[in-house]
Amino acid sequence: MSQSIIYDKMPVITLRGIVVYPGSKMNFDIARKRSILALQQAMENDKKVFLVTQTSLVTENPTKNDIYKIGTIAEINQIIKNSDESIKVLIEIKDRAKVSRVYESDNFLEADVEIFELSNFEMTEYDEALLKSVKGLFEEYYNFINKIPEEILFHVLDSEDPLFIAEYIASNTSIHIYDKQRILESTNVVEKLEILASALNSELNLIAIEETILEKLQSKIDKNHKEYYLREQMKVISEELGEKSPADEKATYESEIKKLKLNNKEAKNTLLKEVEKMSKMSAGSQEASVLRTYLDVCIGLPWNKASKDEINISKSQELLDEKHYGLSKVKERIIEFLSVKKYKPDIKGQVLCLCGPPGIGKTSVARSIADAMGRKYVRISLGGIRDESDIRGHKRTYIGSMPGKIINAIRLSSTNNPLILLDEIDKMLHDFKGDPASALLEVLDSEQNCKFVDHYLDIPFDLSNVIFVATANDKFAIPPALLDRMEVIELTSYTRNEKLNIAKKHILPKQINMHGLATSDINIADDIIYDIIDYYTYEAGVRSLERNLAKICRRIVKAKIQVKEEEKDPKDKIIVSKENISDYLGPRKYKPGATLDNDEVGVVTGLAWTNVGGDVMHIEVSVLDGSGKLELTGSLGDVMKESAKAAISYVRSKSEDFGIDRDFYRNKDIHIHVPEGAVPKDGPSAGVTICTALVSELTKIPVKKDVAMTGEITLRGRLLTIGGIKEKTMAAYKRGIKTVFIPKDNEQDLYEVDPVVKEALEFIPVDKMESVLKGALTAPVKKLNKANPMGFNLTN
Ligand code: ADP
Repeated sequence: MSQSIIYDKMPVITLRGIVVYPGSKMNFDIARKRSILALQQAMENDKKVFLVTQTSLVTENPTKNDIYKIGTIAEINQIIKNSDESIKVLIEIKDRAKVSRVYESDNFLEADVEIFELSNFEMTEYDEALLKSVKGLFEEYYNFINKIPEEILFHVLDSEDPLFIAEYIASNTSIHIYDKQRILESTNVVEKLEILASALNSELNLIAIEETILEKLQSKIDKNHKEYYLREQMKVISEELGEKSPADEKATYESEIKKLKLNNKEAKNTLLKEVEKMSKMSAGSQEASVLRTYLDVCIGLPWNKASKDEINISKSQELLDEKHYGLSKVKERIIEFLSVKKYKPDIKGQVLCLCGPPGIGKTSVARSIADAMGRKYVRISLGGIRDESDIRGHKRTYIGSMPGKIINAIRLSSTNNPLILLDEIDKMLHDFKGDPASALLEVLDSEQNCKFVDHYLDIPFDLSNVIFVATANDKFAIPPALLDRMEVIELTSYTRNEKLNIAKKHILPKQINMHGLATSDINIADDIIYDIIDYYTYEAGVRSLERNLAKICRRIVKAKIQVKEEEKDPKDKIIVSKENISDYLGPRKYKPGATLDNDEVGVVTGLAWTNVGGDVMHIEVSVLDGSGKLELTGSLGDVMKESAKAAISYVRSKSEDFGIDRDFYRNKDIHIHVPEGAVPKDGPSAGVTICTALVSELTKIPVKKDVAMTGEITLRGRLLTIGGIKEKTMAAYKRGIKTVFIPKDNEQDLYEVDPVVKEALEFIPVDKMESVLKGALTAPVKKLNKANPMGFNLTN
């Protein structure tokens, strides 16, 4: 026998006039305070509540004697606050359960409940006949009551599952609540069908009697009178159920839709049609609640609500300077952007993309743009999304469907012209469910986005007043069509000095304030901050620096509390020093100068630019006797593989000059490896490094250990320009490199290199591979010469 599951003290929500069954999803409004408190309790725990029906509709605060003993366990999927304090919940009904004990408190009911299963059964002929007659009765009922949507009838007729049929019909008809509860309670599926059959039968009888009465009355009352009579009847029923009457609800929705003043006639008509449709459904039915949520979402959208732009250029400049250290080019570009917006407010379609490594201030700059314009700011995280419906929403065919991220952002901002930050636009994926990038294309296209159709809304919403700002780590990972629509502003790694200033002027004061400390509580000298930058962080931005400073603040708070509790003399100021820094942050995490230990053959330090900033990588080449096979390992991208092949061709063409066996490419196997294989590497700038390692390995001349290099090479051995000089040289400096070879054409980029780095490193701009070999190898290569078989010095 399977063991039953017991839940202790589960929060209880009591239902009036409805019974819910496992396997369904539904949403309804919760207005009673006790139910809201029970809901909150559930949200704090495991999001599970026990739903049980009250025995009487009128009891406001039911006690344990006012509820049935069997209900259902539901999981809360979503809650939305309505404007009138009530809460809309979307729940999934999971299991039927029996109450074993009820706890009463002033706040809400709690209960120990035990899940119970239905008894096994196999269809007999009798059951099949019963099922058929239940379907027949329901069809008859459907024909009488023309308020039930056709889909419900089709669901019933389509299904052969007796449990589903019994409970689905029960929840979609107005059979007596007592019968609905019995259907829930019975553990026997056949019994459920029997109860339903008899309940439907009596319901049909009642309807027939009502019909005859009405027929008799009809001759007496004129048409208007009859309508009035029916409406009054409906009103009383709804009041009894604690609901708005369908007519009232319809009128309220219609007036709200009119108030929206929608410019788009078609959209307005669609909404009014949906209201009409809803008013014909049974108020408690699933379909009606889906429509109600839809209408609430649509009505809640800020169709005509916009914030007023308040752009003041000098104030914006002040704000940017106050919030962000450095970044002068970025600020300049933003000020230009704001000026254009101010000069020509209706200009459309400018999309900025802030591009650079993590922690460099992209998100915070975007927020400042919103602040400078007086616009609402909403961030949408695009990292990892792979489905078009994340952007555009799901069709309104099932209960859980909701609008996509864009419309949700609009809802959150409550204005139709917020600044929406599309964070990590380069991290979107795509799969068989559609490509989110193509949906975004439409969002960003100023020609199309005034009529953006979210699948859920199914009516166009004007996004043309929204300001979109995107962020990305890697410009090249952005789908090209999207990149085409955006104006990229690049943010590069911070230098040590910039990091120091950001820490002193922004991060530390922020952390001190956040931890409730005063500036007088703590003293961290500049060289300590430099130590943290050098030995505890390895990043382009300042995130980990911020984390380390937060850690120090936490420790200081802890120390202050201990001093207080032990009633010791409080020290005036806590000084973080070289001696005690490891008490705060633990041992150093990064070793500066992790260069190679010796001058080695076939191993060369290259400089790479990754999307987290610059890095060094040791490229290894090994040549063994073989048959000319080339092996490339270490997660190398296609471009890097091509550079390797170009390097080999170049070395072949120069083999004689380098004193290398001409046939090396035929009688040797070459293996090129870049360690840390898990990190994908690509780009052409490793060409010069691969070539040097290859020549070193083939000539057996070691490479100087403190030399690093970067550059693309051509088949003729010329060096071509590369990007990321600032980041790459910073990485070289951190790893204790002394000399860096860069392509001659990159010499002009040296102006952006940090002065500290410039001071510490020797830069050698070169335009030919030979010059690199001459400077990087510990001895000159010797030329092969028939007349001089021992070779002679190339440099002579
Ligand atoms: P990103 O979006 O690029 O990952 P964030 O905007 O989240 O970076 O920045 C990380 C943290 O560093 C934030 O607390 C931010 O305020 C701070 N920060 C980064 N750059 C600067 C800067 N130039 N001036 C002041 N604070 C900065």
